[in-house]
Amino acid sequence: MSCQFDFKGKTVFVSGGTSGINLGIAEGFAAAGARVAVMSRNAERVAAAREHLARFGQPVIGEVGDVRDFEQVKRALKAAHDVFGDIDVLVSGAAGNFLQPALNLSPNGFKVVVDIDLIGTFHVLRAGFDFLRKPGASIINISAPQSFNPAPMQVHVCAAKAGLDQVMRVLALEWGEYGVRVNSISPGPIDKTGGLDKLISEADVKSMAERIPARRLGTRDDIAQMAMFLGSPQASYITGTLIPVDGGLALIGGRGHAPNPEPTPRN
Ligand code: NAP
Repeated sequence: MSCQFDFKGKTVFVSGGTSGINLGIAEGFAAAGARVAVMSRNAERVAAAREHLARFGQPVIGEVGDVRDFEQVKRALKAAHDVFGDIDVLVSGAAGNFLQPALNLSPNGFKVVVDIDLIGTFHVLRAGFDFLRKPGASIINISAPQSFNPAPMQVHVCAAKAGLDQVMRVLALEWGEYGVRVNSISPGPIDKTGGLDKLISEADVKSMAERIPARRLGTRDDIAQMAMFLGSPQASYITGTLIPVDGGLALIGGRGHAPNPEPTPRN
């Protein structure tokens, strides 16, 4: 991982920061010198992430908690704040996903994803506000292309991520006066992550990569680099924005385009 950012003396909190893209973000900040706190539900995963992140040489906190429970979120943020002080970068990344056509999706299935992705994000941002460095903090939501591209079999995710991005925009308006910036990153398909491995077959992943304008899947480091940029002073005039980091997928409607035809020989 190459790193041009310096987060020495800064505190970063990542909800859902114990695997995949969010762990990659936590790694990026830890490698750049930040004190990092991660939170998720599974105690073993939290312990493993804490051990992994500690290898970067900075203090790390791992908290067990479910973003659906406001009190648990508050407790985790307070624990990080008690030890590390004001939070400079707050990342809301916890999410759930599964494929199901709307006609087979139970109301509870819809609600679970909205509870984690949308309401959980509100919990993290609202509870987090009280522990942020003001002025100066940066909030980053991890959104998805489903926020703006309707995707069959993902009505629950599309609704939740679209809502999450409106939360981001409203809070950017309301919290600008406190010197707090709020943005979202929309990752494209990211290699070696739960989101991709669980949902799409290997063959479909390969053909998807061929249809992306950049002709490859994203990496966890691609997203970490954008998160660090948004968390840095270089991004101090960026707020209220959804930034796709997706190799151009957003340009072509999320599902990719047909491979380029063979060039026609000229006479
Ligand atoms: P992942 O590896 O499945 O990680 C999800 C993380 O969220 C885990 O650490 C999980 O830990 C935690 N989590 C889930 N439910 C939670 C809850 N209720 N409370 C607290 N923590 C919870 O996911 P990923 O694929 O890397 O995706 C990460 C983010 O990127 C998500 O917001 C996803 O929507 C977005 N995204 C991913 C892709 C992709 O290609 N993977 C593309 C676009 C957007 P526990 O199980 O321990 O709780």
